[in-house]
Amino acid sequence: MCYFCMDYMSDIYTSDIKFLPGVGPRRATVLAQEAGIHSYEQLLYYFPYRYIDRSRYYKIREISSASSYVQIVGRFIKFEPIGQGYKKRLVGRFADETGSMEVVWFKGLNYITKNIKENVDYLLFGKPSEFGGRLNIVHPDLDKWEEVQKKPFVGGLHAMYPTTEKMKSSFINSKVIQTLQANVFNAIQGKISETLPAWLLKQYNLPNLHTSLHTMHFPQDVKLLERSQLRLKFEELFYIQLNMLRMKNKRQASIPGHVFSKVGTYLNHFYSERIPFELTGAQKKVIKEIRRDIGSGKQMNRLLQGDVGSGKTMVALMVLLIALDNGFQGALMAPTEILATQHLRSIRKMLGEMDVRVELLTGSTKKAVRTRLHEQLKTGELQILIGTHALIEDTVQFKNLGLVIIDEQHRFGVAQRARLWNKNTIPPHVLVMTATPIPRTLAMTVYGDLDISVIDELPPGRKPIKTFHFFENKRANIIQFMKNEIASGRQIYVVYPLIQESETLDYKNLEDGFRGMKAHFPEPNYQICMVHGKMKPAEKEAAMQGFMKGETQIMVATTVIEVGVNVPNASVMVIESAERFGLSQLHQLRGRVGRGADQAYCVLVSSPKLSEEGRTRLETMVATNDGFEIAEADMKLRGPGDIEGTQQSGLPFDLKIANLARDGQILQFSRDVATEILANDPLLEDPRNSALKKQLQKLNADKINWSIIS
Ligand code: ADP
Ligand code: MG
Repeated sequence: MCYFCMDYMSDIYTSDIKFLPGVGPRRATVLAQEAGIHSYEQLLYYFPYRYIDRSRYYKIREISSASSYVQIVGRFIKFEPIGQGYKKRLVGRFADETGSMEVVWFKGLNYITKNIKENVDYLLFGKPSEFGGRLNIVHPDLDKWEEVQKKPFVGGLHAMYPTTEKMKSSFINSKVIQTLQANVFNAIQGKISETLPAWLLKQYNLPNLHTSLHTMHFPQDVKLLERSQLRLKFEELFYIQLNMLRMKNKRQASIPGHVFSKVGTYLNHFYSERIPFELTGAQKKVIKEIRRDIGSGKQMNRLLQGDVGSGKTMVALMVLLIALDNGFQGALMAPTEILATQHLRSIRKMLGEMDVRVELLTGSTKKAVRTRLHEQLKTGELQILIGTHALIEDTVQFKNLGLVIIDEQHRFGVAQRARLWNKNTIPPHVLVMTATPIPRTLAMTVYGDLDISVIDELPPGRKPIKTFHFFENKRANIIQFMKNEIASGRQIYVVYPLIQESETLDYKNLEDGFRGMKAHFPEPNYQICMVHGKMKPAEKEAAMQGFMKGETQIMVATTVIEVGVNVPNASVMVIESAERFGLSQLHQLRGRVGRGADQAYCVLVSSPKLSEEGRTRLETMVATNDGFEIAEADMKLRGPGDIEGTQQSGLPFDLKIANLARDGQILQFSRDVATEILANDPLLEDPRNSALKKQLQKLNADKINWSIIS
């Protein structure tokens, strides 16, 4: 690498990390593999996970194994090598005027023996722990006290960087990373080019990029550190919003949409003759929002969020009827065969004698039937097609598809969604429905280019589900409770988690549960059925039918019943090994009951040994029925990347500093700023905004796979 070339400065950001003083090829490999750091720039954006106040000094008497990081001035009074081979370690006794403690090294023993002296004052920095009842500190940072005092005073905050075991064993600890950061700043010589327009920094009083990055690694002042963090978080979220909003604008400007201008006989007849209940206010509001979209001449791309049981199917049906009223066909896509079949059944039931052709297409549709359906779709005779992802196969061609509704969207990859666009010359309107509420902040980021509607009201007369948590040793009580419910005519789901890596073992787990239940609920008084993902569709269907008709009182199942299954008379959900489920899954499962007029119950059965997180999950379930609250709690527990609803695609970008669970306000602020900028300068042509355009191009070129979300 030529350190004197003219283009050195412009390239320095992308320089290979191995050229940085203090790195070299071996450490470069570790940094790349363990921390994703390949370039100088990536190192600069490798941020501390916390800061430690190093203005405070501790005495040995003051600390305990519960203390956080501490620094102590003292001296070693003795070193003692202990053990042999891989168990070999070096133990030093470190003392100040208040007492003494052990300091332990497992690695680099030769270096310590050679360099650390007895009876010399050191500043020790580390995290106290306990071993065999004795207080100790493992692998502390040590600096000669004499030298520490010679250095000019640097503020009290000290950056702590995340490191892995592999990094540590290549001697890349937090302190070394800090040294490397200093080396980068040295190499760059203040040439960090600004990525936000000057007017924006000024208007919102944000520090420039160089100051912000430097402060992140070498904070001198808490206030400036906070401003710097704000600036970097804002920038990260702002560009995501700016990009998404710009693409949305572009799409709306370039892609036309079918105009559903009228409401005709299908909807009118349905509404006056067939609809079995009054729509809730929220359903009306959402239908209005959708009608505005589909009448606008632009393609609708709308996400409909509504908790389980909030009545999304009715909304879907009414919008489908509007499509029919305007001479178009509609499709409804569900993630599983069970669900698709159920949609078919409930939609046919709701339509009753109305003259609408609705059919089902799934992976197990027989070839002859399939061929006929294909034909009738092409002639337009078949008006509404319901199905699984079999719908998106290229052989499925419509005469005039105007609307696609996707239920429980998180089960679909977004690429699959995109294939639907090609089913007509003008792409159909798309309505995506999800019962896994996504916290607002997350929705704004992941679905930032979709419009969002929310059904935030349940149909009237529903009694909130009562949720209880029992440990396994209370099984007798649970069985008795189940018997009482069955005696009063109710039905019960018992769900087992998928807990093993292997399908056979999972199946065994379920079968054991099934057998256990049979012992408690013997024939002929009780009928129990079993449903799981590996069954043949026909068997599954037969079991479901039996349960729906009330011929069986208990359904033992895996999570195949998680989404959408609707049996109003089933009012008890027993979830075994509940601590093994995620929060949103528990909420989905609970949503299978409470669909009728009776009081519904959810019984969470867990082992008494619970992790902190497992306990919080179960407590959250007992405390609330509100899906949005649960989603927020889930995001706080697991972080946004794991939230169901984004799992399929993952977050399309890596957030380096912003945290969606905590930085909701900054996100909203960034979205507002982006919206305002685009309102005044849609194409970012104003020279004052040239930094924005340039940065968007850069982000689109390297980091982010935007196509995932568009
Ligand atoms: P989800 O939003 O979970 O898909 P569904 O559409 O399955 O919910 O609706 C749940 C139940 O509520 C169904 O039995 C449905 O008939 C009923 N329902 C929907 N809307 C209303 C309403 N406005 N009033 C009363 N019951 C309703
Ligand atoms: Mg549903």
